Amino acid sequence: MSESWIERKCAENRLRMTDQRRVIAKVLSDADDHPDAEELYRRASDVDVNISLATVYRTVRLFADAGIIETHDFRDGRSRYETADDDHHDHLIDVVSGEIIEFVDEEIEALQIKIAEKLGYELVDHRLELYGRKKP
Ligand SMILES: [Zn+2]
Repeated sequence: MSESWIERKCAENRLRMTDQRRVIAKVLSDADDHPDAEELYRRASDVDVNISLATVYRTVRLFADAGIIETHDFRDGRSRYETADDDHHDHLIDVVSGEIIEFVDEEIEALQIKIAEKLGYELVDHRLELYGRKKP
C-alpha cells in the first residue's frame, strides 16, 4: 500500500499511525465524494474487517483536529468528510437527491474578498453552500 497524502500529513503532524488509521487514511484519500462516518466504515471494513465504527469516528476527529480533513454539515444530520488537499471549492447540495456538486466561481471568490475588505477584514477562508432543486 503506497503512502497516501493523509499519511504524509499525519507524519508531518507527528500523529501516531496504526494499521487501522492507515486504512481509514487510504479510504479518505481515495474518496472523490463526501462520505459520512458510516460510509467510511463500510469502505474501511472491506479492507480490514476488524475496524469498528467507533475507531472511524475517533480517527476522523483526530484527522479533522489536525486540519488534514474537512468536516462538512450539509444539513442532512450527518457529518461528511473530505481531504483538505483539494484546491478550494464550494458545494451545491441538491435538496431532493442529496447529490453534492463541487464548483468554483471566480466572481464569487472576488466578491467575498471585496465584502471582507469593505468590512475592514482580510479574507483568510470561507465556506459557501448552496441548496437547490434541479429545474425541470
Ligand atoms: Zn468537496
